[in-house]
Amino acid sequence: MKICILGAGESGVGAALLAKQLGHSVFVSDGGAILKKFRMEMIENQIDFEAQTHSFDKILVADLVIKSPGIPDEAYVVSACHENNIPVISEIEFAARNTKAKIIAITGSNGKTTTTLLTHHILENAGFNVGIGGNIGESFARLLTDKIKDYYVLELSSFQLDGCPTLKPNIAILLNITPDHLDRYNGKMENYIASKLLITKNQDEKDYLIYNGQDVNVKAGLKNQKTIANLIPTPENLMQNNLLQLTEEMLINLEGCSLKGPHNQFNIYCALKVAQLLGVEKESMESSLAEFSNAPHRLELVATLNDVEFINDSKATNVDATFYALQSMIRPIIWIAGGVDKGNEYDQVLTVVKEKVKCLICLGKDNSKLKNYFGDHIDEIYSCDSMQKTVDKACEMASEGDVVLLSPACASFDLFRNYIDRGDQFKEYIKKL
Ligand code: ADP
Repeated sequence: MKICILGAGESGVGAALLAKQLGHSVFVSDGGAILKKFRMEMIENQIDFEAQTHSFDKILVADLVIKSPGIPDEAYVVSACHENNIPVISEIEFAARNTKAKIIAITGSNGKTTTTLLTHHILENAGFNVGIGGNIGESFARLLTDKIKDYYVLELSSFQLDGCPTLKPNIAILLNITPDHLDRYNGKMENYIASKLLITKNQDEKDYLIYNGQDVNVKAGLKNQKTIANLIPTPENLMQNNLLQLTEEMLINLEGCSLKGPHNQFNIYCALKVAQLLGVEKESMESSLAEFSNAPHRLELVATLNDVEFINDSKATNVDATFYALQSMIRPIIWIAGGVDKGNEYDQVLTVVKEKVKCLICLGKDNSKLKNYFGDHIDEIYSCDSMQKTVDKACEMASEGDVVLLSPACASFDLFRNYIDRGDQFKEYIKKL
């Protein structure tokens, strides 16, 4: 087959490597620049590619186009493929079509990375031959160019699901659906919901769908997208006397687990459900939980200085994630928030803010929305335009017993390269104190 790949990032290059290994003729086209490491990789593997342009004469002769998730469907090059009746799929779909391995696929607006890492960790500890990738780490296609595993735990974004017409996970997890990325869905929540529900579209009666049983958007989605998978809704009450109730008989001790807060109890429940379905023993689950350490920038305790805790939740780029961070705090909060607002509505956090936040430090180029919204509800509000000033101000405002929480509810691009840069700078200035 002649395969053209649009976009030469991790997913595009992964798809190119797999396609090449399978013996297809491969051409990679990226309208922007290509990172050096990816250029080198394609040269080493004799893969034909171009950067900063799309040569339609080379693209429109393809039998199949694999599109990177960052490229919207409306892009001119994608429309041209559709007009020429060339099927356009995502790298995940391409990879899935080329493996018999079992797939555990995880999606949601928040909690994907945490739940994916945890599920993989529990299964690996229990002795499963299991890989991890997708929206984190290596692309699924790249994973398949290496030694094939029996299972793959995949984190999937809605953009990745959009190009997956036949993907059929053996076990799927749908964590939650809250407003995010609506710019890519014509501002319509129902489009975003439909995209998330693609995770279960092709599942059959031998497959499982673990889903958030309390989430109205998930439930609305399931009404439209019928599924014949075995349905496992998460219960309203997960905990019983400090133990997580996985089944009627199986109560799991979370002591020693570093994942804190009700949202993480929920993530743990979903990961453990997968483990239970695959026959993992309770003792193995508990020891895996005690050993697990999450990826950085997610409610990460950076330091405790003079009895002030500093917590980095830079990955909270929407209001829902920040809501759970605020809810998880036991101490009075010096809250650092702000950045690029994606159409935020703050009503969800108002009650918890009034109850716990004693000071808000806005960290963004334009802080007017935060200041206007919370002006009547928080006594002390300040604005800073750099992380250094923000950390200094937070230290000035914090007293013994407080927590300084960076949980911005916004994207970071106004003052930082990305959420990692924002979180790293936060940690750097705290370490200098
Ligand atoms: P994702 O990969 O979906 O972005 P992460 O695990 O990286 O999810 O977490 C992103 C942010 O969302 C973090 O601030 C984290 O504390 C918060 N979060 C994690 N799990 C949940 C959940 N189940 N519901 C709401 N927020 C969550």
